[in-house]
Amino acid sequence: MTERNLLITGASRGIGAAAAVLAAKAGWNVAVNCRRERAAAEEVAAAVRAEGRRALVVPADVADEAQILALFATVGAELGPLHGLVNNAGVVDVAARVDQMSAERLARMWAINLSGSMLCAREAIRRMGRSHGGAGGVIVNLSSAAARVGSPGLYLDYSMSKAAIDHFTTGLAREVAADGIRVNAVRPGIIDTEIHATSGHAERLAAAVPQIPMARLGTADEVAQAIVWLLSDEAAYVTGALLDVTGGR
Ligand code: NAP
Repeated sequence: MTERNLLITGASRGIGAAAAVLAAKAGWNVAVNCRRERAAAEEVAAAVRAEGRRALVVPADVADEAQILALFATVGAELGPLHGLVNNAGVVDVAARVDQMSAERLARMWAINLSGSMLCAREAIRRMGRSHGGAGGVIVNLSSAAARVGSPGLYLDYSMSKAAIDHFTTGLAREVAADGIRVNAVRPGIIDTEIHATSGHAERLAAAVPQIPMARLGTADEVAQAIVWLLSDEAAYVTGALLDVTGGR
């Protein structure tokens, strides 16, 4: 395989970190984006290098357009032409009903989960799209099974942001197919990562298990397997797909 460069947002831990290491095993050089956890991101980059690939840590908040522009400029200057993007950075908020949600909460949710993913995709298309002089490429968005179930009483704002990611994936896949860019989404179920603890939902994990047909939580590695397959040439005819990784939920 010719050398290919991948940017994964929010790759300092969890699903993004697992995808970085698995992508390196599959031959990708990886730009590891993080927001705050630079030390953890450096460990992920070291794991990528241990697979014989090049790695770069680039801190940037995907809620900030100027930081996104700087992120892509740094990746281009230090890693080279971009061939893939995983729009992984995402947040949930504390459990709340809609009648308790503030405008600030909603603005943060849309800025990170929605605008962040769209603006990163925009920058990737400007570099990878054939109409922009690129060689084509692949984008994988992180949606969630929450997009289907709505998460009432928990975080309807989060599930709405992920339903929008599904819609974005479907439409963008058709928009940029002729540009040589495939766009797909992975929809994880309940995965054992820190996202639940950082948002005060950790105690809900055990309670959720009986609702999962396979009767266990998923792992970050299991989601990463789906991401890396969608990035690969084995998925060459797959675009606009929403791939559930949910244990049947
Ligand atoms: P996680 O363990 O909380 O990791 C999230 C990563 O995103 C961290 O590296 C975090 O870095 C980064 N991040 C957060 N906000 C950011 C921002 N504004 N700019 C740049 N990076 C940012 O989460 P995860 O469970 O691995 O989730 C990864 C993706 O999968 C998310 O999109 C999530 O919605 C989706 N997902 C997860 C589950 C699940 O059950 N875990 C289920 C369905 C979908 P900092 O800490 O430095 O901010």
